[in-house]
Amino acid sequence: MPEGDTIAYAANRIRPVLEGRVPEEIETPHPRHALDRWPSRLEGRAVTSVDTHGKHLFLRFEGDLVLHSHLGMVGVWGVYGPGRRWGRSARRAWIVFRSGGHEIVEFDGPLLELMTEGRTRFDQRLAALGPDVLATEFDRGRFLARLRGDDQTRFIGDALLDQRNVAGIGNLWKAEGCWEAAIDPWRRVSAVTDDEAAAIIDSVRPRMMRSATIGHRAIRAKVYGTAGRPCPRCGTTIVARGQGDANRTTYWCPGCQS
Ligand SMILES: [Zn+2]
Repeated sequence: MPEGDTIAYAANRIRPVLEGRVPEEIETPHPRHALDRWPSRLEGRAVTSVDTHGKHLFLRFEGDLVLHSHLGMVGVWGVYGPGRRWGRSARRAWIVFRSGGHEIVEFDGPLLELMTEGRTRFDQRLAALGPDVLATEFDRGRFLARLRGDDQTRFIGDALLDQRNVAGIGNLWKAEGCWEAAIDPWRRVSAVTDDEAAAIIDSVRPRMMRSATIGHRAIRAKVYGTAGRPCPRCGTTIVARGQGDANRTTYWCPGCQS
């Protein structure tokens, strides 16, 4: 699943093409949005900003309209220069923007909606989001308040995936953060101090910011996906096991994470 850094990277690539411009053409090829009339509702409106909060991306248009996207497990934003082939079939495109020879395409949803600016502020799902892990200034106080308000018997690795505690961390950065901070993801939240919880976030922020700038593929995981290989810090064999309600695989080093 794309995590906050992947969404921020997409926004960073979309911004120079669309921000401050009126898209020359907008299409919604997928039958799902055939009746929504988005192209006519957005016609002639400039994109005022492209921003993200956790795994959510917002294309804001003049006239208080916002296109809100969440890629879930399957969606992707593609940004293509002149003559470039799309990464997925055109039938899977939910919306296409053309501007200055570039094409910006959202494939496979699964959540793409046009809403008013006002509704974004009152939307329950959006209002419930915790502080953005990639914010310029991370709101540590709000993160800790949310974490302490959560079920303290949860495993810390599971609590970090809950977007109400911190928005933007997924399975990869959860594993990487716990490893960086030398904290066992199977520790109960009650047994993790505020400083330790904050250290997990602090350790992944610079790496996630780098990924948001240069792309996810350039990031080398330290423990995620490395079960059976030696820990880069202590040499103990990395192990993996499903964790939490969603049984997401977590990776950790039993030698140096406690
Ligand atoms: Zn280790």
